[in-house]
Amino acid sequence: MTLNPELRDIFQDAQVVAIPTRTSFRGITVREAVVFRGSEGWSEFSPFVEYDAQEAGVWLQAAIEGAYNPWPKLHRENIAVNATIPRVAPDEVASILARFPGCTTIKMKVNDFASDADRVEAVLDLYPDAKIRLDVNGSWTFEEAMLYLYDYNLRFGNVFEYIEQPCDSLTDLAKLKKEIPFAIAVDESIRKNLTGDMQELKSIADVAVIKWAPSGGISAAHKLIAEIDLPVVISSALETSIGISHNLALAASLPELPYACGLGTIALLGGDVVENSLLPVDGQISVRSEAVASSLVEKYRASSEREIWWHNRIEGIWDETFAANIDELGWLK
Ligand SMILES: [Mg+2]
Repeated sequence: MTLNPELRDIFQDAQVVAIPTRTSFRGITVREAVVFRGSEGWSEFSPFVEYDAQEAGVWLQAAIEGAYNPWPKLHRENIAVNATIPRVAPDEVASILARFPGCTTIKMKVNDFASDADRVEAVLDLYPDAKIRLDVNGSWTFEEAMLYLYDYNLRFGNVFEYIEQPCDSLTDLAKLKKEIPFAIAVDESIRKNLTGDMQELKSIADVAVIKWAPSGGISAAHKLIAEIDLPVVISSALETSIGISHNLALAASLPELPYACGLGTIALLGGDVVENSLLPVDGQISVRSEAVASSLVEKYRASSEREIWWHNRIEGIWDETFAANIDELGWLK
């Protein structure tokens, strides 16, 4: 353990794990996470390694709140979730869907039409009534979006529940919204622009994708959701079951939850840190917290070099962002 003593008190029993993914997902084949305990139980700090201190600091705020602040009032015990299909070959679709039992809303990562339409076809062959979400991660220009969505509409009709972040810029999204017959969800427009004008989003999108850690935790997410004022889908950032439990609590704390949430993603990992993983059963996951199992921490323990890297990352963010504002972090008192 290389954390300094002050932080060791806050990040009790901190463990760094490296969990293999089953299929490469956003280019990731190993998911690293720090899990630790506070007065309210286990929490997780797992910003992607390329994030700078400012972006990762938002995740640290969520992680600390998760460990020290009790969950708010929950309105439901189970959360309906969607299946998530990475960019795999069409013949791999059935085996991936089998890991999401009962899920009939299916989110698919896509790059364009030509290389992805056969995968959509493979899903519809298996589940003709599936509600499909295409996640573009903002990678299309306005012209590409028009072209590809025209092709998707022509081939499949309106099987699409929404198109997630088809373009990066708000200007392109606003133009697109007037032209296409599909609903639009925003994800990166929120996550990468937390200080922007959230009220603007209501005129360019139909659904807001909200994630626990990138929002800064449950309280911060509540504020964000109130500002955006759109129907919400809570979605994971490929966390372990510890992070997923806080995402589930966030979803359960919302009075209205009209869509399936993107929280079944433990199915995309090759391991976990809890025995009873938060996986979908009959298309739903029960809202609960689970304790970290030491045998699983041993199994997936990161190398000592990576452990030091994560401890340095926490200390760096702490010194830069939190140390001077500790009184504002009411949960630690
Ligand atoms: Mg997305």
